[in-house]
Amino acid sequence: MVHPQREDYWGNVNPVGPRGCYDEAKRFAEAITMAYHRTHGVDTRIVRIFNTYGPRMRLRDGRVVPNFIAQSLRHEPVTLHGDGSQTRSFCYMDDLIEGFWRLMHANYHLPVNIGNPNELTILQFAEKIIALTGSSSRLEHHPRPVDDPKVRRPDITLARSLLNWEPRVSLEEGLERTIAFFKNRV
Ligand code: UDP
Repeated sequence: MVHPQREDYWGNVNPVGPRGCYDEAKRFAEAITMAYHRTHGVDTRIVRIFNTYGPRMRLRDGRVVPNFIAQSLRHEPVTLHGDGSQTRSFCYMDDLIEGFWRLMHANYHLPVNIGNPNELTILQFAEKIIALTGSSSRLEHHPRPVDDPKVRRPDITLARSLLNWEPRVSLEEGLERTIAFFKNRV
């Protein structure tokens, strides 16, 4: 409901939908972490991870990055959910780990967004992967999953000021490294 998403936004999720366990588990993990920190003085950190990708993702984990790359490399139809107008922001894993590392060394216990604010539609993402792989794949439309978020982009103002961190790896560079990894496996 708030876009781009800041850390002080409490979220809006369907607790009883098909994603309910996943969504609420993340929320509960934050709640229990803060409870341990407040009640028992445990030295904790909370990272809000946005979409992340890179080499060594599982080929069949069902997420959009391995799906689109594997389908493109095989010249099979690329399975676009809905019209592809939903947006995501993809962070290369090295950038994410650097953000984690810096947060570990900061004395800060509330949630911190670590993600890449470069937002694009899933349709643009499909076209980019088809182009980067030199694929002859066409787009195949599938229904949008229930409760699939329409937009997603982190506001990383806090990470920038607190950790002097921001992503360094461009989407093209990260995808090229990821595609090179998948080429040997497809
Ligand atoms: N998606 C898609 N085709 C696929 C897999 C995913 O169009 O084969 C879409 C999905 O509906 C969502 C986006 O890509 O809008 C990102 O999906 P993913 O499961 O990778 O991550 P999410 O951000 O939903 O947790």
